[in-house]
Amino acid sequence: MRKSTVAIVGRPNVGKSTIFNRLVGERISIVEDVPGVTRDRIYSQAEWLTTSFNLIDTGGIELGDEPLLVQMREQADVAIREADVIIFIVNGREGITAADEEVAKILYKSNKPVVLAVNKVDNPEMRENVYEFYSLGFGEPYPISGTHGLGLGDMLDDVVGHFPTLESEEKDKDTIYFSLIGRPNVGKSSLVNAILNEERVIVSNIAGTTRDAIDTPFKRDDQDYIIIDTAGMRKRGKIYESTERYSILRALKAIERSDVVLTLIDAEEGIIEQDKKIAGYAHQAGKAIVIVVNKWDTVESDEKAMKEFEEKVRAHFPFLDYAPIVFLSALTKKRTHKLIPEVKRVSENHALRVETNVLNDVVMDAVAMNPTPTMNGKRLKILYTTQVAVKPPAFVVFVNDPELMHFSYERFLENRIRDAFGFEGTPIKIFARRRS
Ligand code: GDP
Ligand code: GDP
Repeated sequence: MRKSTVAIVGRPNVGKSTIFNRLVGERISIVEDVPGVTRDRIYSQAEWLTTSFNLIDTGGIELGDEPLLVQMREQADVAIREADVIIFIVNGREGITAADEEVAKILYKSNKPVVLAVNKVDNPEMRENVYEFYSLGFGEPYPISGTHGLGLGDMLDDVVGHFPTLESEEKDKDTIYFSLIGRPNVGKSSLVNAILNEERVIVSNIAGTTRDAIDTPFKRDDQDYIIIDTAGMRKRGKIYESTERYSILRALKAIERSDVVLTLIDAEEGIIEQDKKIAGYAHQAGKAIVIVVNKWDTVESDEKAMKEFEEKVRAHFPFLDYAPIVFLSALTKKRTHKLIPEVKRVSENHALRVETNVLNDVVMDAVAMNPTPTMNGKRLKILYTTQVAVKPPAFVVFVNDPELMHFSYERFLENRIRDAFGFEGTPIKIFARRRS
């Protein structure tokens, strides 16, 4: 997984260097009111939400005293060659110039996504200035102000949206993908660090990034894992206004890509409504789940306290009755070593496929033990059962009439299947179908 690269292009004095500085977050290059000013740096790292990327300011590419158009052509070529996405900057105070059109022509010919930004739109009244730039042919122009830091968020959403994602790369089926979810301050970042700092974990590289999260691959006991980290983000992103909306979106995206989701609860603060909502997402997505009770160091940690807390968890999360609970402390590292083996175990259950004949024996034994329900004098008949999917395991029960499959009987079958095959940590799905 490689980092994406963004290049800024545009004629001199439109504000490339100013915007480069903004995105990099430090004042590292010289900005003067002179076209073609020398820059300290033209290449740096920038971050947006959880995505870090490489940023190139092509305005800093020096070509001696070549004519303007030659310089610009060269800069655009560099951008096309190096970048995954190009930010094309124009000046909202000056309108379209011949040089803008020249750059546009070169960018058309590339297959790279181009995001058009109209700079120096320092106040809302000036927003009307952007309309003429539609004619450059790069879709909606983003009004921005480099000096005031306005409009950059919307522009960056678009830029990052064009990055190649992990989904478009191949997901390794032997690797276990997992994420940590939970409300702010529950200890997600601390736990990610604790996991990665553990002795027997070998972090292979931390280069991989996707648009919503930072992926860290590591190996433990010959098993490959990837932590999809949505945590640390919130602490950055100065220019970003509505972090809450995005933190939910990011969590959902991370859940989507995970095999296993660790749902964190704060032992010190107890369980609140928000915890249930967050855990509900993971359950609905059909992911394997481990409930992690973090900050256990803050609680009197005897067997009795654990038992009591477990009962509380079970009462608050009845829909997660299949999920194992791990009590630990990311701070003192107590019992954190138990977590990865648990992730592996539930992940295996999540991907488990059972043999059809054994499955049918289990279902028929269940029926013998607890006769099928009747409705209006008609009895449910189970003909046979088959597993149709994994991740999560799904079963189709072929019956005489699906209407007769009462919820409580379905639940009974689920429990019998769980008892027989040990699907701990994973939701399983059962569908009744009429035999055709
Ligand atoms: P570059 O040559 O494209 O890299 O442009 P610079 O970043 O060096 O900026 C050229 C001039 O435009 C400098 O005087 C900046 O202060 C000014 N400038 C940059 N962004 C803005 C902006 O958003 N609004 C205004 N009013 N001036 C800007
Ligand atoms: P996040 O917002 O979910 O990523 O939470 P952080 O990892 O940033 O942790 C929030 C706060 O809880 C920090 O002050 C941590 O030091 C603290 N913290 C995290 N884990 C533990 C723990 O196991 N025990 C205690 N006592 N504090 C913890």
